[in-house]
Amino acid sequence: MSGVLEACTATARREGATRINEIRVRVGELSEVMEDALRFAFEALSPGTLAEGGHLVVENVAATSRCVECRVEFSHGRFDVACPQCGNVFCEAVSGRELEIESIDIDLPGDREEGTS
Ligand SMILES: [Zn+2]
Repeated sequence: MSGVLEACTATARREGATRINEIRVRVGELSEVMEDALRFAFEALSPGTLAEGGHLVVENVAATSRCVECRVEFSHGRFDVACPQCGNVFCEAVSGRELEIESIDIDLPGDREEGTS
């Protein structure tokens, strides 16, 4: 999480942001990352950074694999990787291990006011 937060604050600084409102991350079902742990780390690490007071939004990404035999792509749980078509257990992981930043929502100086112009 500290890497994610560092990447976000670095981006925000580069954009000249005054603060980070929201960080949206994608977490694969097969990654070893627990959502609770992410949130806890965010709470612990964000004070004193641009992300202080911001929100962390976690999007879970389903695990998907492709059968090496029939090339069928299917989503599955953590421990039941088997092709639904031929039963093959030799499958390539397509997604499910990611921990990546989807987007960040930042405040730029001068866009404080919202509403009619
Ligand atoms: Zn198959």
